[in-house]
Amino acid sequence: MASSQAPTVQVDLEGRLERVATGKVRDLYAIDDQTLLFVASDRISAYDVILLNGIPQKGALLTLLSAHWFRFLSSAIPSLRTHFKTLELPASLRQSPELVKRLQHRSMQVRRFPPDHIFPIEAIVRGYITGSGWKEYSEKGTVHGIEMPEGLRESERLQQAVYTPSTKAELGGKDENINPDQARQILQERYGKDRGARYAQRVEELALEIYSRARDYAVERGIIIADTKFEFGLDAEADEVVLVDEVLTPDSSRFWPAATYEVGRSQDSFDKQYLRDWLTSNGLKGKQGVEMPPEVLEKTAAKYREAFEKLVGRKWDEALASSA
Ligand code: ATP
Ligand code: MG
Repeated sequence: MASSQAPTVQVDLEGRLERVATGKVRDLYAIDDQTLLFVASDRISAYDVILLNGIPQKGALLTLLSAHWFRFLSSAIPSLRTHFKTLELPASLRQSPELVKRLQHRSMQVRRFPPDHIFPIEAIVRGYITGSGWKEYSEKGTVHGIEMPEGLRESERLQQAVYTPSTKAELGGKDENINPDQARQILQERYGKDRGARYAQRVEELALEIYSRARDYAVERGIIIADTKFEFGLDAEADEVVLVDEVLTPDSSRFWPAATYEVGRSQDSFDKQYLRDWLTSNGLKGKQGVEMPPEVLEKTAAKYREAFEKLVGRKWDEALASSA
């Protein structure tokens, strides 16, 4: 994860912009004090490990899908502030055809937050019980320590979506599931008792609201968003909590096809589940240096495209062919 603390500043993009951070999937470049170029690579990670080969055009897909959501959410939730500025490349890069080719569609300009104003929690929301939530529930009847109703079955829709945060581990580390009280304490340690509690409250409220709007939107288009993860930052001047990072992509969410959804079993998915299953069944879960064979690569790429087309309502090739 956040690489933002990387000790060395690297110069890249033909020396035109300074790279300030590299995450598992994204590279962040400084345009100025207020603005970052957020560049999504084709890298793919599963179980917190990056695979050796990437998915062609995945970075563009994540960027265009996130932009679609930022626009949708900003109009659906008027009080929401997001870091999204524009899909256009900054003028300094547009002069180089090479850079335009490399960066177009996979980059967005976003408001820049210093690392200490990116909240060190992942705001996970679960609308359905699956994954680590299902595992914990099966063993203890709780999800992130939160009591859940009895008798839930695998993949069942929850009466009310739950906010189940996690810590944000450093690069190479593993995120830990925590409950909302612990998330509040983490923000209180950083911002003091009152402000920390207020920001924690706002993060929870926004995460649940965004999830519920997105879930309703997606299900009409044939996709169940089973769960998802948001990140938030602080606009210190305005004292406002701001939605940052990527949003509601197959990387940060579990997407299921609504048509084949059935309670009581694990679901087929539009997201990385295919890759995860392949890794698990081949004993490669969590292992470094794994290369995906062509059929895993192609199946995963097709899943990403299908999710994009359903959610955005546009053919992927058309979206790529047109500019921002
Ligand atoms: P993963 O999402 O797979 O857990 P990751 O979080 O390590 O990986 P990336 O998604 O590759 O990293 O990179 C995004 C990084 O940029 C994250 O560390 C995120 O916290 C940070 N970030 C997101 N939005 C902003 C912003 N507006 N200003 C500064 N940093 C940001
Ligand atoms: Mg990320």
